[in-house]
Amino acid sequence: MSNKYVYFFGPDHTDGDGSMRPLLGGKGANLAEMAKIGLPVPAGFTITTEVCTYFYANGQQYPQELKAQVEEAMRGIEKVMGKKLGDTQELPLLVSCRSGARDSMPGMMDTVLNIGLNDKTVKVLAEKSGDERFAWDCYRRFVQMYGRVVLDMKPKCKTDHCPFEDLLDAKKKKAGVEVDSELKAEYLKELVVEFKAAVKAQTGKDFPDDPMEQVWGGVGAVFSSWMNDRAIVYRRMNGIPHDWGTAVNVQAMVFGNMGETCATGVAFTRDGATGAKGIVGDYLFNAQGEDVVAGIRMPHRIEYTMAEELPHVWEEFSNVAMILENHYKDIQDVEFTIENDKLWMLQTRNAKRTGFAHVRSAVDMVNEGLITPERAISRIPANDLTQLLQPVFSGEGLKGRTPIAKGINAGPGAATGQIYFQPDDAEAVWQKNNNAKIILVRHETTPEDLRGMKVSSGILTSSGGAASHAALVGRQMGKAVVCGCDSVKINYKNETVSAAGKEYKKGDWISIDGFTGNVYEGEVPTAPSEVLQVLFEKSLHPKDAPIYQCFQQLMSWSDRYRKLAVRANADTPYEAEQAIALGAQGIGLTRTEHMFFNHIEEFRAMILADNVEDRQKALEPLLKYQQRDFEGVFRAMNGRPVTIRLLDPPLHEFVPHEAKEQEALAKKLGVTKEKVAQRVKDLAEFNPMLGHRGCRLGIVYPEITRMQATAICRAAVNVMKDGIDCHPEIMVPLPGCAAEFKHQEGVIREAAAKVFLEEGITPDYMVGTMIELPRACVTADKIAENAEFFSFGTNDLTQTGLGISRDDYGTYINEYQELDIFAADPFQTLDQEGVGELMKIAVEKGKKTRPDIKLGICGEHGGDPASVKFCHKIGLNYVSCSPLRLPVARLAAAQAAIADKQ
Ligand code: PEP
Ligand code: MG
Repeated sequence: MSNKYVYFFGPDHTDGDGSMRPLLGGKGANLAEMAKIGLPVPAGFTITTEVCTYFYANGQQYPQELKAQVEEAMRGIEKVMGKKLGDTQELPLLVSCRSGARDSMPGMMDTVLNIGLNDKTVKVLAEKSGDERFAWDCYRRFVQMYGRVVLDMKPKCKTDHCPFEDLLDAKKKKAGVEVDSELKAEYLKELVVEFKAAVKAQTGKDFPDDPMEQVWGGVGAVFSSWMNDRAIVYRRMNGIPHDWGTAVNVQAMVFGNMGETCATGVAFTRDGATGAKGIVGDYLFNAQGEDVVAGIRMPHRIEYTMAEELPHVWEEFSNVAMILENHYKDIQDVEFTIENDKLWMLQTRNAKRTGFAHVRSAVDMVNEGLITPERAISRIPANDLTQLLQPVFSGEGLKGRTPIAKGINAGPGAATGQIYFQPDDAEAVWQKNNNAKIILVRHETTPEDLRGMKVSSGILTSSGGAASHAALVGRQMGKAVVCGCDSVKINYKNETVSAAGKEYKKGDWISIDGFTGNVYEGEVPTAPSEVLQVLFEKSLHPKDAPIYQCFQQLMSWSDRYRKLAVRANADTPYEAEQAIALGAQGIGLTRTEHMFFNHIEEFRAMILADNVEDRQKALEPLLKYQQRDFEGVFRAMNGRPVTIRLLDPPLHEFVPHEAKEQEALAKKLGVTKEKVAQRVKDLAEFNPMLGHRGCRLGIVYPEITRMQATAICRAAVNVMKDGIDCHPEIMVPLPGCAAEFKHQEGVIREAAAKVFLEEGITPDYMVGTMIELPRACVTADKIAENAEFFSFGTNDLTQTGLGISRDDYGTYINEYQELDIFAADPFQTLDQEGVGELMKIAVEKGKKTRPDIKLGICGEHGGDPASVKFCHKIGLNYVSCSPLRLPVARLAAAQAAIADKQ
């Protein structure tokens, strides 16, 4: 039997159904499904995506069987519609030819309407419809569209003119009218002649008159449009594989432009922006599909006027919309045409929507009994939840603005503020005015910039990627972050930044959108997040917060299903409280170095000490500060486990690099400036990321580890004395081999034993390690002999596994993604094939030695949905991420657990 490449749909018989998206594309499958459930769909057929694949694999040829199958299906349409293609006696059949990929790619591919018109059929159409203007309007649209799409007469660049638009404009001028719809038949006839002449002049060929040749032209153009540039870019952005291919739908035309009892429109069964119940949409009388979106005439709003203007159609249309929503159990985005008061449905698909609309509609539909909580959880893109937490740029505020630059969208949120380049300046401005809005603009940030980052609304860096310091610290602080934006040129000396050919000075206003990576000139207005107002700021009552209510319901369902625990990366009591409000069950990573920056002078004294005794002495005040900080975090977490990581970054990050600052420090410490300069020189490294950092610091300076372990244990004992439960987990950073861990473990346990003996209280504590080097993964069985838990530091594991510097990859990552070498940024979404395999080895080996070993992740991937799902799959116990990513992690973890059951 020959292959079936063509699937028919119509009132009498339909070959496909809604489940056949891979083969028929979304549009074809849904047209089949609508026809099957008895909705008014003009008959047509779908040429499968397999033909698209064949077309590209065989030098743009079709399979042999296709011709006969298409011709047979065309006869089927003629039979059902009672019209013939190319009929020169009776009303002729006209068809449309549209693309339809498995996942909808709105507007990315091509469409041809009114196929079947020529100099003869147009006359019959005019006569039988009794509307000469209508017939010639269809014809001129057809020649124009066919010319653009099939004969490739599109303008090739922005300065190119479209020959058809030029002719149309000239005609309007000649006729003395403003809009196309005012052009009388005689002018439209002239236009068709002129359009065809333009085709001949540009292509050297006559415009095709044969309707079947026109159909094949349309089919070929749609298949070819699968590989146009915008379609390729759209697929890349949305993770749609290039080899899926598109289907082609050929369907009988119905006419919304045949007079005042005709109309065409688009509608959502619920609001795609807010998710609110009720149909919303636009329609236009006497118009064809593209007119509604073209914005030439102002459309009517369905929800306001349709019931009055078209009462019968409204009744049927609202009923069809309800049937479709109940059938698909999701918001539908539909296209329809009204031909002489008769409603025809041309398309339905699950509507694209905002995160707000996703959450509200899914929760409402569960409460309406339409879907189960499992289905609601499974269909919301987890990342969309961040929209509910961040201040946002409203659509209104962005109107008429074009981005001046685009970087990596590293920290979700929208921020607007005045440019400051120096963290000190930012801090000084903020100290004068706590309401100051600041965007910190840096080449990159370092821990030294922390204070400046803290007071900024947003951070823009010209280098560094999604796991750079600016990104992960900024995100953890809940700041909007755009990083790796290498098209902005920063001049610290002049305090200027240039973008898109314009220079901006310190104090000028810019706005950054951490959702998209876009940077805008000036002040774009933002709106605060309702969820945080209720949960964290407590400035809003839940009953006055409908978005919060939906959010909370979704979160409570998610918590019921998920198997993974969620923890937060948090360094301060403030962040810990925020984390608890957003559902954290513990802290998975406290980066203790951030605490040192609050006591930088004492720490610098320690670094400058020549001998152990001096170093020990310099560490004494730090012990007190650290103990106090840890107590704050333990109290805030109120018995939940807290993982504290020992000092990780290289010491050179803590010392001043400018001569002036070195002199000031020397003065303060009573040493010579040469000594300070020498020490800074000694600490310099070619590759600090692979340098004297992580446990290597604690091994060479065990007194630092001892001080930190003592501070943690004393803090734990103190809070327990106040009746607060406490479960510290002390974590060693960056070991590559068991001996390194064992060394540090020895120092920690000895310090802990001493504290517990002195205090007479022994908390339930653990000593474990980060796993962030490939060698640690492959020797995890040995490390697990002493380590009680593993926490995957996937920022470093990605860096060392791929050999890509986490701070410098911004310059080529875009290119890599453009070339499809990386499907995603590996610092944002875990490279499962490589880094993920290393993790699997570590899990397996770790469990072999210690079956009950606690396993978590605290790299930035802990808040990325695809990575969370991977962590579920390989059997981790928890994921840890920035507080504002927690809802995303909770939802993604629930999705993973539900997917297991299905
Ligand atoms: C990591 O490497 O994944 C990690 C969490 O540690 P840091 O980002 O502080 O190096
Ligand atoms: Mg690390």
